[in-house]
Amino acid sequence: MNLSIADKHGEKPSALDINKLRDEFPVLSQLAHNKPLVYLDNAATTQKPIAVINAIDEYYKTYNSNVHRGVHALSSIATMRFEAAREKVKNFVNASSIEEIIFTRGTTESINLMATSYGRTFLTQGDEIIISHMEHHANIVPWQMLCEQTGAILKVIPMNTHGELLLEEYEKLLSDKTKIVSISHISNALGTINPIKDMIAKAKQVGAITMIDGAQAAPHAAIDVMDLQCDFYAFSGHKMYAPTGIGVLYGKKALLEKMPPYQGGGEMIKHVSFDKTIYNDLPHKFEAGTPHIAGVIGLGTAIDFLNSVGLENIANYEKELLAYATKKAENTEGLKIIGHASEKVSILSFVLDYAHAHDVGTILDTEGIAVRSGHHCAMPAMAFFDVAATVRASFCFYNTKAEVDTLFDGITKVKELFG
Ligand code: PMP
Repeated sequence: MNLSIADKHGEKPSALDINKLRDEFPVLSQLAHNKPLVYLDNAATTQKPIAVINAIDEYYKTYNSNVHRGVHALSSIATMRFEAAREKVKNFVNASSIEEIIFTRGTTESINLMATSYGRTFLTQGDEIIISHMEHHANIVPWQMLCEQTGAILKVIPMNTHGELLLEEYEKLLSDKTKIVSISHISNALGTINPIKDMIAKAKQVGAITMIDGAQAAPHAAIDVMDLQCDFYAFSGHKMYAPTGIGVLYGKKALLEKMPPYQGGGEMIKHVSFDKTIYNDLPHKFEAGTPHIAGVIGLGTAIDFLNSVGLENIANYEKELLAYATKKAENTEGLKIIGHASEKVSILSFVLDYAHAHDVGTILDTEGIAVRSGHHCAMPAMAFFDVAATVRASFCFYNTKAEVDTLFDGITKVKELFG
């Protein structure tokens, strides 16, 4: 048990041994601009533990082979490990079967798959789709495209100045015209945790299908699709310690069975002739072509890793980090926090009244601190707060209070230069 971090701040020790955990992430021990790297851009992508890196390495070094098609030894191992990872994902989100787990390139592709396959088949002129004002572009643009193609209408749930959705307004938007409700579990720009269980139940009352963008939730909170009762849930591997280029679409089996394939090609067929093609069973019907095999295997290992650290331990520790950072932010003159929701994950978005977000990011970078400056692919949310960009520090379980201190020392430097 590492007591040093907790001792320094006079608090009870965390259940996590942070220094030991940090050793699992090779990237973290390097210098950036000759300063120890302080990586606070976890909402964009997380670093990868050595177990995940080794799993990918092992695949390419010892059993690189295509899956599902070969009878030879290497292909059998690859297929076994690939499908074992699907089983891990199924357990991770508490789906009822592996048929409900579709591998995609990430959240973006998962939402596009559902919008294209389900949306184009079942929506028509005048049907309504509800999203919220705080969505990532990945949960806005596919629906706008669907509206253009079908004549459906997009409705937007407004939010308040804390960055919380107005649930009474949501209820007013719901009607028998509502066919799809697609909302983020957690906002990447504001950190808000939305009350999705309640929102899903309300959507069900009018017979709407629900899609949850879980890109920011998967690394921070246990996901239970059975408890949520959502119809679809999307997330990306790279934000939860797995490789880039791999993601998941969970969908209820009965709905996936009704949906046409998203792409055609190998893997997604049972039989092809020039007269007719018979599609494969779930989940393969939605996985045309050679998949990202190393990515899937890496995702399975990342899930093992997350489970070994414990999602509850992670949530508790990250909450502590956010509270510590928020207090510091509130005591920093000229700093305005963007997003004050009562339920938040460890994302601190802010602006300084004396420096542009991009300048802040550049100065912090020279101090070895990696934050994100920009619109965070959530331009409508930025417009609501009347800012072009924010600085976003996003923390995860390998970050420390000492790193939060370094961030605020960096902000003091920005003030010296620009203030
Ligand atoms: N939704 C949210 C809330 C996100 O934070 C992101 C990534 N920033 C996405 C969707 C898109 O994820 P990806 O780029 O991995 O497809």
